[in-house]
Amino acid sequence: MTPAQALQKYFGYSEFRHRQEAIIRDILAGKDVLVLMPTGGGKSLCYQLPAVLMDGLTIVISPLIALMKDQVDALNVNGIPAAFLNSSQSPDEQAMITEKLKQGAIKLLYLAPERLFGSGSILINFLKSLPVCLIAIDEAHCISHWGHDFRPEYLMLAGLKNDFPNIPVVALTATADKLTRRDILEKLDLKNPAEFVSSFNRANITYRVLPKKNSFNQLLDFLEPRKEDSGIIYCLSRKSTEALAADLKAEGYAAEAYHAGMDHADKARNQEAFLRDDVKIIVATIAFGMGINKSNVRYVVHADLPKNIEGYYQETGRAGRDGLASDALLLYSYSDATKLKGFARVDGNEEQSTIMLKKLDDMVRYSQLQTCRRQYLMRYFDEDFPDNCGSCDVCLSEVEKFDGTLIAQKALSAVARLKERFGNTYVIDFLRGSKREKIREEHKQLKTYGVGADIHRADWFRYIRELVAQGYLQTTDDEYPVLKLTEKSEAVLKGLQKVELIATQTNEERESEIIPY
Ligand code: ADP
Ligand code: ZN
Repeated sequence: MTPAQALQKYFGYSEFRHRQEAIIRDILAGKDVLVLMPTGGGKSLCYQLPAVLMDGLTIVISPLIALMKDQVDALNVNGIPAAFLNSSQSPDEQAMITEKLKQGAIKLLYLAPERLFGSGSILINFLKSLPVCLIAIDEAHCISHWGHDFRPEYLMLAGLKNDFPNIPVVALTATADKLTRRDILEKLDLKNPAEFVSSFNRANITYRVLPKKNSFNQLLDFLEPRKEDSGIIYCLSRKSTEALAADLKAEGYAAEAYHAGMDHADKARNQEAFLRDDVKIIVATIAFGMGINKSNVRYVVHADLPKNIEGYYQETGRAGRDGLASDALLLYSYSDATKLKGFARVDGNEEQSTIMLKKLDDMVRYSQLQTCRRQYLMRYFDEDFPDNCGSCDVCLSEVEKFDGTLIAQKALSAVARLKERFGNTYVIDFLRGSKREKIREEHKQLKTYGVGADIHRADWFRYIRELVAQGYLQTTDDEYPVLKLTEKSEAVLKGLQKVELIATQTNEERESEIIPY
């Protein structure tokens, strides 16, 4: 039987996903393999299918006893003889499985690492007497201190290659940066391994950001053509999830709230109803989503700014698990960023606060991008990506821009007049003609002082950032970064180069900004 035939026969799928086929081919050829694939990508099949095709027993190391039963049941339903051995089983049950193993009646055996090496090596010696053909190590990042989920018992697996010197090992994980990856290869002592790193790009999700104006109307506009679809709307506070769910219901949407403060029974009911498609929209805090596997979520909306890119990407990733076109919409407002900044400061922990503020800053940057959002996300996760994905609002040219040449000229000439010796706060206060003492008397005499008083302070920060992003200004790497001109500045100052900026809220809009959610 070929791998493609086995895929159809045992799993009922007609095509391989990601690089499953190449991975399986290498495993069948007896190679050690490292597989990095996003959650839901289809890692299990990479060892289950070879296990079916190879002669002998495949040992699967998995950290969570709770998940083993599900996996084993699913395999048995597909007609693949599989079993697990763990402490939840009676001695009789264990004896029965041992007997079947001796008879060669089991193709896949699931074990936790501590089980394999525990009780004076009885089990491992028994397994060595069997025709083991493959060892799969799921959640392999658990072996690394660098990963986010280190498990000491995984370190025992370092001895596997001594016990099974010629048996191919496949290590699989969904989360491993370069450092963790190297650590996995070293600790497991994989021989000349083939590495398969799948892209974490979710090509079927379109990313959009809108400046938050009247968020409820913006939501209704977004939802109107999506009445039949399932979606998740994330809000920052518990209260706003309930308020928004109620308002959406009043508009005729089947929406329910979900947050950690609700009764267990209410949460379970709303989640169940959502999974069954009785409820179309879940309005939730980030407490919702972990471990939820609903494939037809068509959109994820962030009605408030998320705290960091990691969370945002994970939450948007709940859309489109079925591979069909899906949407991620973020409503961005400056006041959200300010609010989150307050939360990000952890009293008495300077280091932690700095990291959280930096992550928030990266999130704000994402919200204000003039370049491909997907590229930014991929680079954030260390993956190279071309600069036009064709399916984010920037690449689709949906982002509203305006001629910001005059604004740019004001900013650039302020930097020049201040002799490129000040940071953005000082430059902006200077532009706005601040009466603060810290603006030096000599600077108050300059012609540029106060030429930008008509522009809101928050907008100035944003424009300066955009000008840096577009290379018309640069910042030094110092602790207190200083704004400097670049080789592109002169053309702007001379009026030879037009500058486009992203349209922001006007002062009027900002002041009348209704932020009910
Ligand atoms: P991971 O372990 O990478 O998180 P799983 O192995 O649990 O992902 O697979 C996720 C889902 O994708 C499962 O429902 C699985 O049956 C399905 N799947 C795996 N490979 C394919 C494929 N080639 N075609 C269709 N569905 C697949
Ligand atoms: Zn793009």
